[in-house]
Order: sequence, then C-alpha cells, then structure tokens
Amino acid sequence: MELGISGKRALVCASSKGLGLGCAKALAEAGVSLVMNARGAEALEAAAAEIREAHGVEVATVAIDVTTAEGQAAVLEAAGDIDILVNNAGGPPPGMWHDWDREDFIKAIDANMLTPIALMKASLPGMMDRGWGRVVNITSQAVRAPIGVLGLSNSARTGLTGYVAGTARQVAGSGVTINNLLPGLHDTDRAASIDTGAAAAGGITLEEARANRCATIPAGRYGTADEFGQACAFLCSQHAGFIVGQNLLLDGGATNLTM
Ligand code: NAP
Repeated sequence: MELGISGKRALVCASSKGLGLGCAKALAEAGVSLVMNARGAEALEAAAAEIREAHGVEVATVAIDVTTAEGQAAVLEAAGDIDILVNNAGGPPPGMWHDWDREDFIKAIDANMLTPIALMKASLPGMMDRGWGRVVNITSQAVRAPIGVLGLSNSARTGLTGYVAGTARQVAGSGVTINNLLPGLHDTDRAASIDTGAAAAGGITLEEARANRCATIPAGRYGTADEFGQACAFLCSQHAGFIVGQNLLLDGGATNLTM
C-alpha cells in the first residue's frame, strides 16, 4: 500500500533496536527521512547505515539518553521541523508493589510519561501550523490489562495514555493525530532477557521458557519488530488521518478483552 508520506521527516526515539527500529525501518521504506536516537552510538550508527543502504533516505543520529532534559533538547534540535514523532524509551524495571519509593516512581514517570509529553509539547505547535502531523507513542499492553510485576510501567504509561486521550482531541482539528501502539510480547532483546530470567528462575531451558510464554498468546508466537513497525507506519500514513486518540493492541490476542 502506498502510504503517501514519502518526503516527510520523522524523529524516532529509542530506535537502534527492537520496536523503535522496526518503526524506523517501516517509515524509511515509505520514503520518510529520519532522525534516529539511542544511548549507545555503535548500534545506532549500524542501524542508521543499514536503513540508508536499504531505503536511500536521509538518516541523522543522536546518541543520547532521551529521558533527560539534555537528551530531549538534543533530539529536538536535530529533528527540526518534523512531520512525524515516534516516542519510545526503555521500560521501567519489574518488582513488587511494596518495592518502589518516590524516586522510583519519579524515574519511571520521567522516562515513560513526561519524556513523550515534552517531545509532543515541543513538536505539536509546528505540526499544527503546517496543518499535518502524526504522533505515535509506544506504550504497552499493560495499559489495557495490568501486569502485576510492572507496576511502575502500569502507572507511568497509563498517565501518558490519559494525557494523549485529551490532547489528541485538542489537536485533531489541525490535521495532527496522536495514537498509542500497545505492544504485547515481541521478539526483541528485551523479550530475550525476560526469557533468560524465566529459564534461570524455573530451572528450564530458554526454549521451554519461550514455549511457555508463546502458549499464553492465541497467535501462538511472539510479534516481530517488523510487523510492529508496519502498524506504526500505517498510523503515520495519509490513510490514518481519522484515527484519533486510539490505543491499538498488538499482542496476538493475548489480552482477553471483548473491546
Ligand atoms: P529493546 O529491544 O530493548 O530496544 C530498546 C531500544 O531503545 C534500544 O535501541 C535502546 O538503545 C533504546 N533505548 C532504551 N532506553 C533509551 C533511552 N533512555 N534513551 C534513548 N534510547 C533508549 O526494547 P523493545 O522490546 O523494543 O521495547 C521498546 C519499548 O516497548 C519499551 O518501553 C518496552 O518496555 C516496551 N514494551 C516492549 C514489549 C516487548 O515484548 N518487546 C512489550 C511491552 C512493552 P540503547 O540501549 O543503546 O539506548
């Protein structure tokens, strides 16, 4: 499908690996030039080079922690007048409800709620002036159904979701859409490290740990970063202008909901 966004410009945060990289690749495939970001320069440069080679689009890189004020200033400066913003960052660590103190919550809220809000606040006015824009926030299935050990993620991402619900409706009249993509289990480094931990804790092999988790997903498999990226590119496309303030679960049916 022709997405109609060739020549647009996107900032894709936290995009040297995993879901962010999937989004960067799919946007580049649609002809979008990119500003990519991650903390580690080596993987970021390798990913950017691969995308330039594969899709012939311009790719700038900013190796910095996007959850810091300096990081946000740096990516915004490199990004300039963007048409598309994809918000992403690493998720907070697991634990139990009684483990976390104020500082842990502040850190999670900074990374997974206030960082995307800051980047939206900075980018939305230009998009609205130009009469076109797309924002996609990568959140989590935990927004629809809580994951007990991810209380920090449940809290921070639900806060972001509330902000988006109101803001999306305030900017839609200017041709700007904001939507959230909610990943369930996807085959990324993060999933591999959780499987490794589960294997060690349960005294089982990595393959058994993975099979156990796949058995909880009606689709019978993990999602891929590539298919996640294609969903992101569609939400950023010309065809998605009437999709406003939605939370799209990409979880192979794992979250047992009627709506
Ligand atoms: P991943 O494979 O570990 O990749 C994370 C990417 O983000 C890397 O490029 C990493 O590079 C970058 N990154 C992390 N923290 C950053 C920061 N502070 N500033 C800039 N870049 C940063 O993770 P993923 O699986 O794609 O997950 C992406 C998001 O989706 C996370 O918030 C995760 O919690 C959420 N999620 C994932 C799943 C899943 O199954 N994969 C499910 C639900 C929710 P550097 O380390 O070099 O910075």
